Amino acid sequence: MNSTNTSYTSLNSHPFYIENMIIQKFGGTSVGNAECIKHVASLVQDGRQKIVVLSAVSGTTNRLVEITKCLYKQDKQAVLDHIGEFRIEYSQLVKELFQNEQHIAQAQEILEGHWNHIISFTLDMFTPFEERTVLAQGELISTSLFSMYLNEIGVSSVRLSALDFMRIDQQNEPDEWYIKSNLKRLIDNDKALIYVTQGFICRNHFGEVDNLKRGGSDYSASIIGAAIGAEEVQIWTDIDGMHNNDPRIVKDTKPIERLTFDEAAELAYFGAKILHPSSVQPARKSNIPVVLKSTLNPEKKGTIISNEPSGAFIKAVAAKDGITAIKIKSGRMLLAYGFLRQIFEVFERHRVSIDMITTSEVAVSLTIDTLEDISSLVDELSQFGSVEVDKNQCIVCIVGHLIQTEPGHAAKIFSTLSDIPLRMISYGGSKNNVSLLINESDKKGALKALNVGIFNLS
Ligand code: ASP
Ligand code: MG
Repeated sequence: MNSTNTSYTSLNSHPFYIENMIIQKFGGTSVGNAECIKHVASLVQDGRQKIVVLSAVSGTTNRLVEITKCLYKQDKQAVLDHIGEFRIEYSQLVKELFQNEQHIAQAQEILEGHWNHIISFTLDMFTPFEERTVLAQGELISTSLFSMYLNEIGVSSVRLSALDFMRIDQQNEPDEWYIKSNLKRLIDNDKALIYVTQGFICRNHFGEVDNLKRGGSDYSASIIGAAIGAEEVQIWTDIDGMHNNDPRIVKDTKPIERLTFDEAAELAYFGAKILHPSSVQPARKSNIPVVLKSTLNPEKKGTIISNEPSGAFIKAVAAKDGITAIKIKSGRMLLAYGFLRQIFEVFERHRVSIDMITTSEVAVSLTIDTLEDISSLVDELSQFGSVEVDKNQCIVCIVGHLIQTEPGHAAKIFSTLSDIPLRMISYGGSKNNVSLLINESDKKGALKALNVGIFNLS
């Protein structure tokens, strides 16, 4: 790949033109008001050819969900009230965004079209098909305002409707061939440096308007990146990447420069919720790096997530509380086969997922993170032996590369935590992770100690 070849001449040679592109996805808060939209418009003008993927303005999809509930109840007045709020909020945004009176009027007219479209659903029975059409309005609006704004400031761009290329199949999986061929066709038909399209929305295999589920814009960006073989997929938020520790608990944290997709996935469970593992799957499969960037500090590198491992060291720690540990102790477990399967089946029947597990010859300890009543689960487990339940536990997860194969990491972790009682240790499950179970009350202490002992931070 030749990353310097993004000049206009290369636009004519098809393969280069597609391969050099990047994807830039901006979430709802990044387009949350006029000032933010203007900022995003400045960020996309870095001279690289790209597809900009936008979420709806923050709060919009939530309100649309509320509106669909009112529509099901045929509560027309409530729908009108919500639309009234939208009118106020968006009028304000439009007035702040555009300079030119004509553009303001034009934007207001476009918005009216969307509001009236939504109101038209109050006329008769409301169906799930129409529900998805209503939910699609947020991204249609944000991309249309953004494109108009680029136009006003003299930046040429082409708006691609995601409904013309993004499609899911019968299994709700992206229809790769369809997406790829249609996206290429649309790009070939209208060559530009900047394309703008909607995240989240798509068509289903019936051709109806559908979506990739809440928060699906990251997924859109990753699917689009894979479809065109993009050089990278950038996910812009207001956080400068994944941090090495929980900033809510430890003051002195730093962004992680590089992570593998595996390492990022290990962290996802622990509230490092910037990225859902399944949403980066298409990029991962096509070996396209995903870069987490911050609109507040665009000059910072952020976090690069790729398939390429880097360094043999610990990169991050994370913790999750509200964990319950369950220990099942039984003489019948010794030298028996099928014992674990029987226990797992109980969890399966109760639809409770297990996170950590450790075994001894005569006992097994498991953790779950449900807050629901587990008394019937515990009753059923009691047939296998004595059951002990410890609530208010916390999983601390230590993530990095080669933690397991390089000597010294485990010793360092344990000596750092020498003052904290460890209830369970899970080591060797993957080469990227060590998980520890501690009392919730020790969480702060553990994260702080690890920050000092492992990362030399305060
Ligand atoms: N706007 C959609 C949502 O709020 C999709 C997204 O922002 O990722 O869920
Ligand atoms: Mg999001």
